[in-house]
Amino acid sequence: MPGVYISYPFCAQKCTYCNFASGVSTAGLERQYVDALAREIAGHTWPWRPETVYLGGGTPSRMDARDLDRILTTIPGRPWREATIEAAPGGITPELALEWTRAGINRVSLGVQSFVERELKRTGRKHTAGVVANEIETLRECGLQNINVDLIAGLPGQTRDSWRESLACIEKLAPPHVSVYMLEIDEDSRLGSEVLLNGKRYGAPEIPGDELIAELYETAVCELDRLGIRRYEISNFARPGFESLHNLKYWRLEPYLGFGADAHSFDGAERSQNVESAQEYVDRIRRNESPQASSTPANPAEERFFVGLRLTEGIRPRPDEWREFNAPIQRFLSEGLLTQEGGQLRLTNRGMLFSNEVFAEFLTL
Ligand code: SF4
Repeated sequence: MPGVYISYPFCAQKCTYCNFASGVSTAGLERQYVDALAREIAGHTWPWRPETVYLGGGTPSRMDARDLDRILTTIPGRPWREATIEAAPGGITPELALEWTRAGINRVSLGVQSFVERELKRTGRKHTAGVVANEIETLRECGLQNINVDLIAGLPGQTRDSWRESLACIEKLAPPHVSVYMLEIDEDSRLGSEVLLNGKRYGAPEIPGDELIAELYETAVCELDRLGIRRYEISNFARPGFESLHNLKYWRLEPYLGFGADAHSFDGAERSQNVESAQEYVDRIRRNESPQASSTPANPAEERFFVGLRLTEGIRPRPDEWREFNAPIQRFLSEGLLTQEGGQLRLTNRGMLFSNEVFAEFLTL
C-alpha cells in the first residue's frame, strides 16, 4: 500500500550544514501553512488507505499537537502500520509525546547529528547529549519505542575520538534505528557556501578531509553492526524489524503521495513535486490552484539502478536491463564496487562509499 508524506518546512533555526528547502519563518506564515496543508489533504479523495505516514521537514515536531491531530484525522487508515514524525531534540515533553501517540504517531526520528557539544554549537543546534538521553527516555515511557537517531559524519572539528564519543552514546541509548549521513558541501547551505568561498565561518576550515569522513562512516558501519544495528540502505541502519517501512517504499519504487511545500509524489508511472516556497504553496491553495510545480514520467529501468541499488538487498535486473547496462555493470564488477550473486546485483561495502560515482554512470546512459 502507498505511503503519505507531509512536509513541514519550518525550523527554530537554520542549521549551518542544512541544504533543505526549510528554515525560520514568521508565526503568521506557519499558521497559514497549517491551514493550507489541512485544506490540501482534506481536498484529496482516497481510493486507497495509506500504510505509512511520514511527517518530515523542516521540523514537524514544532507543529501544535492539535493541528497535528487535525491534519492526521483527515488521512484514512489510522492506526497506520508506521507513522513517523521528525523531531529536533530540545522540546519533547511527556505531554507532547502522549499527544503524538494519540494522533497516531508510532515512530520518532530525532535529528541529533552529534552528541559532542562543540560540534553541535557550530551547527546552530541547541541540544546537548544529556537532553537527547532524557528525551529518548521520555519517548519510551510514553510508549514510543521505535526511535531513529540521525548522525552526520564530517562536521567541522570532528575527529576519530569525537566520532567514537557519538557512537558510544548510540550504544548507551540503544535506539533501534540510526541514519548516518556524510556531510554534503554545496552552495545550498551556509557551511557549504563558506567552504566553496574558502571562508572561515562555521568552522569551515576544520571540516575533515574526504578520506577521514569515509573512515568515520566505515567505523560507524562496523560499530553499529557490532551492536546488532545492521545497514539495510547506504545511510540507514536498523535492528531487524525496525527498518523504516515508509522510506523502504522510496527505495523499492512503491507509490507515495506528498502534501505540502516541496513534497514529492510518485504514482508508479509519474513523479511530481509541489512548489518549493511555503508562501507560494499557501497562496496557491488559497486561490484554489494546484500546488504542483512539475511532473515527469518515471524511468523505471534507470530508477531501479539509481534508487534500488541503495538497498543492501540490491536489485534483480531483468534480462533487457542486463543488456542495456552491461558496460557499466561489468566495469563496476571488475572494480569491486558491485557484486553479483545469481541474478542479484548489489553494491559492495566499497561501492556504498562511492555510490554517487556508480549512480552517475547509470543516470547518464
Ligand atoms: S537540519 Fe533540520 S532542523 Fe536544521 S535547518 Fe535543516 S531541516 Fe531545519
